[in-house]
Order: sequence, then structure tokens, then C-alpha cells
Amino acid sequence: MKLHEYQSKRLFAKNGVPIPEGDVAETPEQARAIAEKIGGRVVVKSQVLVGGRGKAGGVKLANDAAEAEQLASQILGMDIKGLPVRKVLIDPASVIEHEIYLGITNDRAAGMPVMICSAAGGVDIEEVAATDPDKILREHIDPVFGLRGYQIRNLASGIDLPRELWRQFGKIANGLYATYKGTDATLAEINPLIIDGDGNLLAVDGKIDMDDNALFRHPDLEAMRDPDEDAESEKEAREADLAYIQLDGNIGCMVNGAGLAMGTMDIVNFFGGSPANFLDIGGGAGPDKVAAAMKIILSDENVKALLINIFGGITRCDDVANGILEAMKMVEVNVPMVVRLVGTNEEEGRALLADADMITATSLAEAAQKAVAAAAGA
Ligand code: GDP
Ligand code: MN
Repeated sequence: MKLHEYQSKRLFAKNGVPIPEGDVAETPEQARAIAEKIGGRVVVKSQVLVGGRGKAGGVKLANDAAEAEQLASQILGMDIKGLPVRKVLIDPASVIEHEIYLGITNDRAAGMPVMICSAAGGVDIEEVAATDPDKILREHIDPVFGLRGYQIRNLASGIDLPRELWRQFGKIANGLYATYKGTDATLAEINPLIIDGDGNLLAVDGKIDMDDNALFRHPDLEAMRDPDEDAESEKEAREADLAYIQLDGNIGCMVNGAGLAMGTMDIVNFFGGSPANFLDIGGGAGPDKVAAAMKIILSDENVKALLINIFGGITRCDDVANGILEAMKMVEVNVPMVVRLVGTNEEEGRALLADADMITATSLAEAAQKAVAAAAGA
């Protein structure tokens, strides 16, 4: 789950990170009132859960409250990368002397979080990584010891931060790590962290990505969820308790078990296809869940073939077969379906599907190849 800039910055501030003292508006009038209270120049910032709002015209400077109102009315009507802007953040405008990147994410290979810092802030870190990899500094954080003083000094000296700002930088780095840890985040990022006109550090932009599997520990943060965050299908999947992620390909995949789902996607790729989604219907999924899953996959217009790969264990193949038949009554299946059922009650499952119009396969390789061929032919 992603948090908005204003939500992320407020969480950072609770941990001692300095942020501009602004507020959120849902109407141009509110924006004006906030700007009047701030006084002077303000920045009007769209609150949508995508990066690159600046480039998309969703971040604008206003000289006074009247201009803030006018810009807010313009930005509140925008769509940024497909997401409607429903809120704007009005912050006092900062004079920017320098833009720094500071973030923490999980390094799965290292098995611990890594703090990333760059003197080339303001732009996407992915872009810096591609064009200027030497400008990116990393410090792995041992969760037992936490972020150590020498690591903070390594980063500060590595980006040539003026000495007099090292103390401030340390406070911000520690505050960012505390927020990352405290929210069970998978990403916490300040971009840019600026040196302002007074020569102080200030977190001008903020981003937190939380680990959905830890959300049950944070009901207060869950309450901040923006329903516009996900595609409609991902919302439906969450409600049906399905792990679903929409992708760019054209082969819909319905699989039980996350590992098998990943393996299935790899094999689809191996045979020259491209998966339209990741979907794990979970262990012991009954017909209802299977039907919900099929409905969600087929609602994606890119899907040209459906690959069902079930390894029956706790999940019974006859339950899955019933779910498929159930779903076929509810949604019109207008793409070829390739089904591979093995494991618990596979004979019963296959018998149930014998009369349905679908392609069967016994091995996964065979199923993937048939799905790739079917998608190409469709
Ligand atoms: P993003 O494009 O979604 O990452 O949004 P940001 O909040 O990072 O804003 C994009 C860019 O707008 C920043 O990198 C700054 O260059 C600029 N910007 C944001 N806030 C201010 C501000 O208060 N003053 C000035 N001068 N520029 C700002
Ligand atoms: Mn930014």
C-alpha cells in the first residue's frame, strides 16, 4: 500500500525529519485559505500515487493566495498517469540550492534494508542508476544494530555534504529509518531532500510504500488507504482475498501457490509468451474464489488466453473445476482456456471439465506452449 506525499511527510516529521509546514486542500477555496495562512509564495502539489508529478504538470509554484487558488482549481481537475487528482498539498515554497536523494528499501539479496543516497536528487533514482551509477551510495542496515553513525558519515561525505549540515543529515537519516521500520515499509524515500535558501536541510517530497502483509499491524495506516491507488481489478482481488497483480502481457494465469504462480510465469516467458497477471488463488480455494479469480482475470482486455495451472494439495482439483464451471456461468469466456490439473482429485476434476470447451494439458511445459499458441492465434 502506498501513502501519499503529505501522509508520508507527516510520518517522517513525527520522527524528527523537517518538512515544510503546509496542509491539504480538496477545493480551490481551501487551497486559497491555506495559502493565505502560510503567506508569500507557495507550491501547489497534486496528491496522486505516482512519481514524476512535477514533469506531468502536477507541481506548480504560486506567488500568492489568489494564484494558489487558481492553480489548485486547475490541478484538482487533472488526471495524472490515469489517476484523478482529488487533493492538493499547499506547502510554503522553498528556495532550492541543492537536491539530494535519500531513501531506504529492502535489499532481498542482502537480506536487509539498504539506505540509498545520491547528490543527484530531484530526478528518479532509477534514472540516476541508469545514467550515473557512480553517483549512488549505499549502506546496508543490519536490523540488529540499526543505522550506525559511521554509515551516516559515509553517506554525508560521499555526497560532499557541507560539514555544518552533517548533524541535521544524521537526524534525518535516523528519522527516515525509524519511519521505515515503524511502518513496516518496503520503501521510504525523500526526493528531493533539499538544501534551502537558509542553508538548512528540508524534506520537500516524501513517499512510503508499505508491506501489505504487515498492514494488520497498522490499522491507523490502513485507514489512510486511497481507494484510487489500485486498478479496479486489484481492488476486487483484495476483497476476494486473492493475491493478484496486473501485468502487461496477454496470457491470464490462474495458479495456486505463489511459488507455482511465479514458476508458471517464468515458463510462459520461456516459451515466448507474456503473462497478463500474477495470481495466487491460495491454498484450499473453493469454487467461489476460483470464480472470482476468473472474473478478475477476464476483465483485463489484454488477455488473449487463459492458463489454469493447479497443483492439487489442500486445494482440490474438483473444487477448482466446479469454480471454473461456476465462473463460466457468470462471465462470458471469449478466449481459449488451457487447463492443467494435477494432484488431489484430479480425475474428478478432469471429468467435470470433460464437456466444457477447453484445451487440456498434462505437463506444465505442454500447458504453457498451448497457451502461448492459443494467445497468438486469438
Ligand atoms: P515528483 O515530481 O512527483 O517527484 O514531485 P516533487 O515533490 O519531488 O516535486 C518535483 C520538483 O518540483 C522538485 O524536484 C523540485 O524541483 C520542484 N519543487 C517542489 N517543491 C518545490 C518548492 O517548494 N520550491 C521550488 N522552487 N521547487 C519545488
Ligand atoms: Mn519527488
